Amino acid sequence: MAGKDVATMKIAGKVWKNGELIDWDDARIHVMSHVVHYGSSVFEGIRCYNTTKGSAVFRLTEHMQRLLNSAKIYRMDQNFSRQELCDATTELIRTSELDECYIRPVIFRSLDEAKPAFGVNPFPNPVDTYIAAWQWGKYLGEEALENGIDVCVSSWTRITSNSMPAMAKAGANYMNSQLIKMEALLGGFSEGIALDDRGYVSEGSGENLFLVNGGKLITPPLGASILPGITRDSVIQIARELGIEVVETTIQRAALYLADELFFTGTAAEITPIRSVDRITVGSGKRGEITAKLQEEFFKVIMAERPAPFGADWLTFIHDTGEKKTASAS
Ligand code: PMP
Repeated sequence: MAGKDVATMKIAGKVWKNGELIDWDDARIHVMSHVVHYGSSVFEGIRCYNTTKGSAVFRLTEHMQRLLNSAKIYRMDQNFSRQELCDATTELIRTSELDECYIRPVIFRSLDEAKPAFGVNPFPNPVDTYIAAWQWGKYLGEEALENGIDVCVSSWTRITSNSMPAMAKAGANYMNSQLIKMEALLGGFSEGIALDDRGYVSEGSGENLFLVNGGKLITPPLGASILPGITRDSVIQIARELGIEVVETTIQRAALYLADELFFTGTAAEITPIRSVDRITVGSGKRGEITAKLQEEFFKVIMAERPAPFGADWLTFIHDTGEKKTASAS
């Protein structure tokens, strides 16, 4: 089974599980699995784009490294190397016949049905690794990329690094993200921005955040309860190559209202402009000039229309013809 349609969504017919491809319908767990009760999972969100040179996964190695880092923090020993996980991903996409998709690797504590363990102690439970893929459109809506979105500052505080390390992309962190997202949606906003426990700007429920002020890019530092976003890093590198100064520093809530431009970054959100915060218009209330320039360069890189900054190799092509496919300047 190459692909499968569920409602209006195209999904890969196979799921990679602990080294083999199984049918989508067989990728099931027991309700008493440790992860269901105690949130013991780490995961990734990765995009494969249908580029001008064929389907390619964006920054696959960096995503798989972050997955392994998350697993290490939570003492989840699993048997696959970064390269094996990368190869598993390209194999899954090849068999799925999807030319672009969102990829979801997840490592979690399951249940040994022959020797069940139901307590908080995670150690008796097996650790399983899965990778699934499906076709997913623009996370915050198609026109969001052009017109921007309306957001609020959340009344919920971002998790602190000494309770739930934001550095790990753990499933349980997303209970905090869900509180932020639900509050925003019910208040009529598209997304919420969380402050950290000291009151400084942290990030969105599933995105990093950038301000543009006086031509400079400003973003919270990696130490400040944020996920080390791979899109964040990509934008920083693209900006530096364009000669735009990037400052990683603490940001007060009020600075959000006074920014010239504001945008979110994330694998799902890509680069999404923000046009208002707490119903206060940001800048001109439209996508700003620097945001548009960064979007333009970012989309060229992910579509293999220009090389990644500073000679980096950010695309893993699914159908390797043997020819070196690194995007070259045209
Ligand atoms: N912060 C959070 C909380 C996220 O869930 C995400 C999405 N993975 C990001 C930031 C952005 O990270 P990335 O650019 O690596 O997708």
